[in-house]
Amino acid sequence: MAIQNFEAKLQSYARILVTRGINAQPGEVTVVYISVEQQKFAHAIVDELYKNGASRVIVQWQDDFLNRAGIVNNSLEAIDNPTPMTHAFAKFVGEELPNRLYITSKDPDSLTGVDPERIGRTIKANSLAMKPVSDASMSDKLAWCVAGAASPAWAKKVFPGLGEDEAVEALWNAIFSVARIDVADPDQNWSDHLANLTVRADWLNEQAFDKLHFTDNGTDLEVGLPKGHIWGAASSLRQADNKVFIPNMPTEEIFTAPDFRRVNGVVSSTKPLVFAGTPILDMVITFKDGKVVDYKASAGIEALEALLATDEQSNFLGEVALVPDNTPISQSNTLFYETLYDENASNHLAFGEAYPTTIQGGTDLDEEGLLAAGMNVSLTHEDFMIGSKTTSIDGVKADGTVVPIFRNGTWVD
Ligand code: ZN
Ligand code: ZN
Repeated sequence: MAIQNFEAKLQSYARILVTRGINAQPGEVTVVYISVEQQKFAHAIVDELYKNGASRVIVQWQDDFLNRAGIVNNSLEAIDNPTPMTHAFAKFVGEELPNRLYITSKDPDSLTGVDPERIGRTIKANSLAMKPVSDASMSDKLAWCVAGAASPAWAKKVFPGLGEDEAVEALWNAIFSVARIDVADPDQNWSDHLANLTVRADWLNEQAFDKLHFTDNGTDLEVGLPKGHIWGAASSLRQADNKVFIPNMPTEEIFTAPDFRRVNGVVSSTKPLVFAGTPILDMVITFKDGKVVDYKASAGIEALEALLATDEQSNFLGEVALVPDNTPISQSNTLFYETLYDENASNHLAFGEAYPTTIQGGTDLDEEGLLAAGMNVSLTHEDFMIGSKTTSIDGVKADGTVVPIFRNGTWVD
């Protein structure tokens, strides 16, 4: 690797993910999800975890090839019924609440061309089996962090004009840069960044808007907000002890839950959404009373169909997030084909589950209570990007007052 000080940067990245991302404390258990292609980085992370006093580290190796081979070749019966091992592990995570550190380096085209029926059934079965894990994560019962690592297949997709080695270098450089590893003091830089984002979230919370109105080319969408919604940013608190963790690194968004029953109009995606190993391009989605009533895409329509077919509520929204067009990720002008990065360069919405933490008292509500409060409940949560240099957003208060929030893709100050 020709990146200057690559080993030192990888070490520093591992340190930030462990000490700030999941904020691992002595005596805790951590599960690390990472690709077999990232052995060196995995070792750096595991070292860092034990240095911080981990009582146990469990590595769940990921492999695009094995994943695809299973979906293509397993019997449908096997696809529909994950093994007892899978259920047992999900139960373990849901009950023991270990830290979860998820490192993505997926090939965005890993499932391109695979029978959509098989992909859809896999997603449905896995989402059901993993429900204890997603419930614990979505409600911050455990500390979790998602970050990225450069792999050849992913890097070639992001930088198609470069040779494989150069592409991997370029992607690592981009990852280090937006994860704020490339600065004199990453730890201080993260603290400052979190403070800046919190100021925006606090302002939105004071406004207590009744709804947002998005306008852009191909977009005219009203998004109702539930009473008592909470705008969050960057850091989260583990329920039991208020341990601070950072669920996404990088992170640039201020987000809350829409009232899933009060979304009306049309919205156009501004970046590809890679779902089920398939890029979905140029989505145009129409909502009526919260529900998707029409959808189009210029590519990947089967993947979009599979996503919307996850369950009844995957046709409704569970997140609305504001990200100005002038973030470092956006200004890098790099399309990552990976939601973790692309969502932090763009305003976005999510199909499916709302974070129970984004409404007052939400973590004490059961599914019925959440639905009654306007908070969506679903097996899926999938972000898609709708921001651009020309996005306008207005906030509308209950008394009808209109407050401009975004003009030309960024905050009105
Ligand atoms: Zn988001
Ligand atoms: Zn999301």
